Amino acid sequence: MKTADLFKRKTVLSYEVFPPKPTSPIETIYNTINELKTLSPDFISVTYGAGGGKNTHSTFQIASTIKSYGIESVAHLACIGLKKEDVSAKLAELQSLGIDNILALRGDLPDGEYTPGDFPYASDLVSYIKGYGDFNVLAACYPEGHIEAKSKVEDIQNLKIKVDAGADHLISQLFFDNEYFYAFLERCQLAGITAPIEAGIMPVTNKKQIERMTSLCGATVPRKFLSMMNRYEDNPTALRDAGIAYAVDQIVDLIAQGVGGIHLYTMNNPYIARKIHEAIHSLIA
Ligand code: FAD
Repeated sequence: MKTADLFKRKTVLSYEVFPPKPTSPIETIYNTINELKTLSPDFISVTYGAGGGKNTHSTFQIASTIKSYGIESVAHLACIGLKKEDVSAKLAELQSLGIDNILALRGDLPDGEYTPGDFPYASDLVSYIKGYGDFNVLAACYPEGHIEAKSKVEDIQNLKIKVDAGADHLISQLFFDNEYFYAFLERCQLAGITAPIEAGIMPVTNKKQIERMTSLCGATVPRKFLSMMNRYEDNPTALRDAGIAYAVDQIVDLIAQGVGGIHLYTMNNPYIARKIHEAIHSLIA
């Protein structure tokens, strides 16, 4: 099943997981997926380590196992530093595993010197995948603009190039203020971007996590959110519950505004995914 087709039926609810570190047993992620399965997600996506992907095997393997559990899966693939022949080999592997959906990414630029490879931007990967075979291609988008972009307008023009290259479905970077997402949807409309767009929501449950995420992606932290973090930073249970409540509040508003889908960054934490699912599943028609 191609994920872009899901939007014709209902508001999409999907989850993201990441492969465990090579030092952790692979079973830990399978336990997580078993728990996520009980929440009947529309699909689960699996992240990929950029720079050749030391965990490529597990990304693809996990995406394949998700399918064997009867859940649609999406394998992320980051192209930074890759040659065409590397990508072809990965696409052949995905085909042999029966994976239809690929989230095509550039990946973050490494610090210092690096070999650029054959794909300067994600749009180059998107068109290469489309030329290779019958894959459904997803791509990333940035409600507040990508951190490297000179302006939001330039970023939208680049997003349009990516969609015109063949991206069938977009998933957004996390954001904590829905107004940025709504303004972004308007810019997409003006630019003629009609691919379905899922809103990326990250329930934040500890201060280190938020500090790391915002420094990486530049998401704005609203005053309301900051007060919550400051008030409960020394009480992990209260902070977790407040983080869940904040994410639920964001999701209720997004669904009420008619967004196409919600993509939950689960951080491999099925407890948090379950709590959010319990709070919103009746709203997803
Ligand atoms: P691009 O679309 O190539 O954009 C990168 C920058 O280049 C932007 O500033 C854009 O405006 C600009 N640009 C694009 N096209 C052009 C052009 N033709 N000319 C000039 N400028 C251009 N990273 C991982 O390593 N692994 C993952 O699994 C992963 N999953 C992600 C999932 C989601 C939903 C999101 C939102 C991000 C994910 N990332 C992941 C992070 C992503 O790799 C980084 O944000 C990266 O810096 C940009 O990747 P991109 O695919 O958006 O790049």
